[in-house]
Amino acid sequence: MKKIILLFCLSFVFVGCNQTTNKKSITEETTTNKVVKEPTKPEETEIWEPKPKVIHVDYKTGIPSDAIVLFDGTDFNEWISSKDSTAVKWLLNKDNSMTVKDKEGDIQTKRNFGSVQLHIEWKSNSEVRANGQNRSNSGVFLQNRYEVQILDNNNNDTYVNGQVGAIYKQSIPLVKAASKTGEWNRYDIIYHQPIFDTKGKVSKKATITLLHNGILVQDHFKIKGTTEYIGWPKNNAHGKQPIKLQDHQDKSGVSYKNIWVRELK
Ligand code: MG
Repeated sequence: MKKIILLFCLSFVFVGCNQTTNKKSITEETTTNKVVKEPTKPEETEIWEPKPKVIHVDYKTGIPSDAIVLFDGTDFNEWISSKDSTAVKWLLNKDNSMTVKDKEGDIQTKRNFGSVQLHIEWKSNSEVRANGQNRSNSGVFLQNRYEVQILDNNNNDTYVNGQVGAIYKQSIPLVKAASKTGEWNRYDIIYHQPIFDTKGKVSKKATITLLHNGILVQDHFKIKGTTEYIGWPKNNAHGKQPIKLQDHQDKSGVSYKNIWVRELK
């Protein structure tokens, strides 16, 4: 008899719980229905807050008011030598540009960066001194390890995942949009840093979009890891890192000017 009473009580509790669940799901369904219901007034799809921050862009230089100017031709104050953190010994030119000084090594920003919008202008040496990868080879390294290739590819074929506008050894550019040898190029880069989990593994790959002279050449490419000359990409966890410019040590004489960066969140 006791067992019968116990079973009766349990079934009552179960039915009660089930009813509560049903009530809850009906409420959620009703709420969901409200959300997905087609708006009938224009105000229902208007959002007024938060307002985007107001910035200004200098029409002549193209530099936004919220950018960090990394190089305007005045000095190397934002840069150091990568090999020993001493003052930069590259050449500072009268036309507000700088030129790689052969064998002086890479240079990098004093500041560390994560995700950025980066503007940088570069030109190859007007004098053709070599072929293949040794003709005006340089590069922009995001977070000190992911290289966007710079190379004078005009009448100078090389492996296409190492040509101008390539993510070195990882992604062939969509088109070759290079200026003539010895003339200025513009790179506009949108870079999102990788996310690492607590065990140091990549949970979200870094991505890069590159406009070369205003033309899309890398379209939200997912970076595989470090851009190695030999070997597979590596993925050791890291935080913010400097932006680095390459001295390929081939007397390439690549020049840079008008470098600015906006930090992205
Ligand atoms: Mg390079």
